[in-house]
Parts: sequence; C-alpha cells; structure tokens
Amino acid sequence: MRTLKLLSAIADIIVPHTCPLCAVVGYSVGFCSACSVEFTPPASPHCDRCQTPFTGTIHSKNLCSLCIKEAKKISRSFSTARSACVYDGNIRKAITRFKYHNQTEFSLPLALLTQSLVSSLANASADVIIMPVPLHKRRLKKRGFNQSLMLARRLSKSLSLSLDYKTLMRVRDTTPQVELTPKERVENVKNAFGVTNAAAIKDKKIIIIDDVYTTGATLSESAKELMSAGASDVIAVTVARTALV
Ligand SMILES: [Zn+2]
Ligand SMILES: [Zn+2]
Repeated sequence: MRTLKLLSAIADIIVPHTCPLCAVVGYSVGFCSACSVEFTPPASPHCDRCQTPFTGTIHSKNLCSLCIKEAKKISRSFSTARSACVYDGNIRKAITRFKYHNQTEFSLPLALLTQSLVSSLANASADVIIMPVPLHKRRLKKRGFNQSLMLARRLSKSLSLSLDYKTLMRVRDTTPQVELTPKERVENVKNAFGVTNAAAIKDKKIIIIDDVYTTGATLSESAKELMSAGASDVIAVTVARTALV
C-alpha cells in the first residue's frame, strides 16, 4: 500500500496534469494557480453555525438571525456548515461543467478544495463517516452520476475516512431546488430523505458532502433524518456557497 502511494506521488511529479478549467498543463493536481487565485474565500466574520457572513450586528453566540430562529424550531439540524469558497466566477464555471455537462474530471480538483476543511472538521475522530447528499434514483438515472458521491468518494479515499452512500436515501423525488425560492426549498425537501439502517450511523459523527450550499434546506433536512436515526453530530461541507440566503 505504501509502495503504491509512493509510486502515485512520483507519478504526480513526472506526469503533467491539465487544469480542467483552462487546460493549462502543470505539475500539480487540481486547478492551476491562475484559476485558483480567482476563487473567493467565504467572508468573515460569519455565523458560527452556517457560515453566513454578518453584514450588520453580530447576534448572541455568533449565530445569524436565521440560525437563532431555526434553532427554536429545530429545523436546521446540522451543527456546522462550511464551504471552501463563494459560488462565483471560476468555481461556478467548474461546478456547472461538472454537474450539468458531465465533465467528471472536475471531481478530483473540486474535492481537493474541501479536503483540508473536511480533515479539520473530522478532527481525527475514529467515528467519522463521509456521506454524500443522495439523489433520487430517477434523477440519478437522468444525470448518470451523483456529483456529491463522486466528491465524497474522493475525500474518503484521500483522508482514509469511511464512506457510506447507502444509509441515507432520497425517498421522494423533488423539484430541483435551483428552480425554487428559499421558502419553497424548505417545503420541497421536507421528508424527502430516509435512513435505511440506523445501526450503521448510531453515535457516529457524519460529514455530509454536497457541491453547493444555497439556503441549507437540503443539507438541513438530510441532517434531521440522520440525527433522528441516532447520529451524534452532522456537519455539512460544500465546495461553494451562494450569496443567496
Ligand atoms: Zn487553470
Ligand atoms: Zn447561521
């Protein structure tokens, strides 16, 4: 295993890689430095829980007004949500090409962007499971792949964390969230997920992976299902987050 890792490291040095965004050839895996420099990091200060940037007053406990409100209704069920960058410019182009134009070569560079985030949130805990947001089988058939699973698989491999893509299921086919308003998104995903085997996630810390965080409705609904099935914590990690809240 160690020899294989060493060989792959040597191959990375001698075999050139192509940046999937601009096609420039270089020697590092992932996006080239010219494309990466365009990625916008999430703004600070931000809500401790969902990373929404604060534009005005910082509320008690450093939570945004939505997290305070939602906490009372217990509907925002992840404990933390973090994204690697803001959904704009180059990252928007990369995710669009990955998700809607079947350019699956983007899975590795996009997963790499979230790798240090996932690693620090996993915090070397042995009970961590990496999980993708599942697609309904009808949508999966249409798209041909689940982009979140591709990212989760890459992360589980590179960080040696367990991957589980079978326990959380999409039991209801929903309208694509991208077509809906924030309020409609919450309704749209209500009871859309189910857990097939509660024993597999009992007392586990789950890091759920998705490409884009918009209102957090899908991730929150997934987390709700996982928490009520016995998970000890659910953390959401996405490649990018939109400015829309
Ligand atoms: Zn590039
Ligand atoms: Zn918040």
